[in-house]
Amino acid sequence: MSKQLYEIGEQPPLGEVPEKMHAWLVRADRFGKPTEAFQKEVVNTPSIADDEVLVYVMAAGINYNNVWAAMGIPVNVIGARNKNGEPEDFHIGGSDASGIVYKVGKDVTNVKVGDEVVMHCGTFDRNCSWVKKGGDPMYSPSFKIWGYETNYGSFAQFTRVQAQQCMPRPKHMNWEESAAYTLVAATAWRMLHGWGSSSIKKGDVALIWGGAGGLGSMAIQIAKAVGATSVAMVSGEDKFDYCMKLGAKGCINRNEFDHWGMLPHWKDNAGYAKWLKGVRAFGSKIWEVLGEKRAPNVVFEHPGETTIPSSIFVCETGGMVVVCAGTTGYNATVDLRYLWMRQKRLQGSHFANTEQSNQMNQLALSGQLDPCMSRAFTYDELPIAHQLMADNKHPHGNMSVLIGATQFGLGISGKPAVTVVHPTLPKGDVHTTPHPYPMSEPLPSIEEAEALTIADDGTKVRDLMHHGIISCTPDDTIGAVAKIMVDKEIHAVVVMEQGKATGVVSQTDMVLARQGRTPDQARSMKASEIMTPGCATCDADMLLSDAVSLMTGRRMHRLVVTEKDKPVGVISMTDVVRKIIG
Ligand code: NAP
Repeated sequence: MSKQLYEIGEQPPLGEVPEKMHAWLVRADRFGKPTEAFQKEVVNTPSIADDEVLVYVMAAGINYNNVWAAMGIPVNVIGARNKNGEPEDFHIGGSDASGIVYKVGKDVTNVKVGDEVVMHCGTFDRNCSWVKKGGDPMYSPSFKIWGYETNYGSFAQFTRVQAQQCMPRPKHMNWEESAAYTLVAATAWRMLHGWGSSSIKKGDVALIWGGAGGLGSMAIQIAKAVGATSVAMVSGEDKFDYCMKLGAKGCINRNEFDHWGMLPHWKDNAGYAKWLKGVRAFGSKIWEVLGEKRAPNVVFEHPGETTIPSSIFVCETGGMVVVCAGTTGYNATVDLRYLWMRQKRLQGSHFANTEQSNQMNQLALSGQLDPCMSRAFTYDELPIAHQLMADNKHPHGNMSVLIGATQFGLGISGKPAVTVVHPTLPKGDVHTTPHPYPMSEPLPSIEEAEALTIADDGTKVRDLMHHGIISCTPDDTIGAVAKIMVDKEIHAVVVMEQGKATGVVSQTDMVLARQGRTPDQARSMKASEIMTPGCATCDADMLLSDAVSLMTGRRMHRLVVTEKDKPVGVISMTDVVRKIIG
């Protein structure tokens, strides 16, 4: 061994692994702004297990995960690993890379020292019983994202990876380009190709959300390669050319429509009709772009909350909406009638397995997949690249940082089989998107690792409720119910039948009844026709916080309060607001 530590850019002789290495480290005591959380340090080069590989990193891809890791939210990745028995009190991030194999474990057969590789970020325990039985590793409880959930990612001279993560590097790309595409392209590949008979096929139509973004730019190219036609969604016409150069047949500017967002209530005749008008116009626009009346067989989704209702609506009968994120929110609303009557599939998808990552990489190797790298940074600029992301000032497309490569543009030693289109994004293009959540986030399951503690001041419903019930009968007209509301200055009337509360007519029910009807038509309707049936109740001794959860969960503003199953009063959101302010 000639040296204990090599400087950045000073490549050790092939196969020689120095004892120490330079790396960008995050530590718990400096969680926060990426420019402060990431610090250059020298650490021991990691050892490898029998199925692992040590790769000398030439360039690393930048992903949002490590903005979260630097901030220490929503998960302290270092603490989580320490709990699982890993001793390191630091995090080396980086979930995309290109580099050269320097050392292999004794069970490794797919790569050898000297191979130029790119790495996908899916890791799993090869001894997991599910995986051993041939199950998809993406469903294994041991699945982890390398360089986010695991340590020793690509922001260091050497990275430790599982051999199955290594794939041949496209030699027609430079180091930074080849470090940029794997995470997003493999995710897009599984979304489009991983779902049996619903997967994309030659001749299909695909609607691709965020066509100029990281995932969308890959999806357009993957759809093109299989012989499908894609329509790209973007937020401005300045991105049309980019998406069409990548292979989209046409583009739609989402800002031409304003029906996005959660679905209006299905009882809201006027609101629903307006939404329907908007979404139909959107569907017609898809036909216009395609030049024929065809619906997308596959809708490639990730904005989530604001777009899912439209995606489900425009999707072809028997088609699939496949979703890997909820960038605009997680409470996607679905009009189930379109899902069941037209037998559509709403499919969740997350990253990709080894086989799918390699299938995707064949496209990159053949030159059919441009990495869509929008900006590359030097080693010293790594925290700045993450800070730009945190501040939403980064360009669309995929970004990289040089690690071992001494200059931009190095590493090209071959020609692709197919000529690569190399589109560029419009000048000055930056994100206007809300911050995406980390790709992997521990979700609560049946088996909770830790007991959850909830703070509560012990206030009971009876401490705030209004005593007495103001009621009507099911046959009372809406006109009569409205008069009760106005006279008594209340927001809802309980519908009583034979001494039992059978429903509630709220102001919202009234307003919904008026939607799309004349005042006279609405007034002559009966309480039973518009009431919310089933009367949501709570016991007077229920905790106020539980009553609030009941109301918010059911999108209601009040509950009938019972004592020994008899209605005795009402608790409303207004009462809760009064208490909070008081
Ligand atoms: P990106 O490069 O930021 O692209 C997202 C695109 O969404 C933007 O280009 C934007 O394009 C579009 N967009 C923003 N707001 C929108 C809205 N309100 N309605 C419709 N479109 C909107 O991000 P990305 O790399 O493609 O990733 C997208 C999401 O997938 C992120 O949340 C990311 O964390 C997640 N992801 C998940 C996985 C997984 O395995 N589960 C893997 C990779 C990424 P326009 O403004 O031009 O419309």
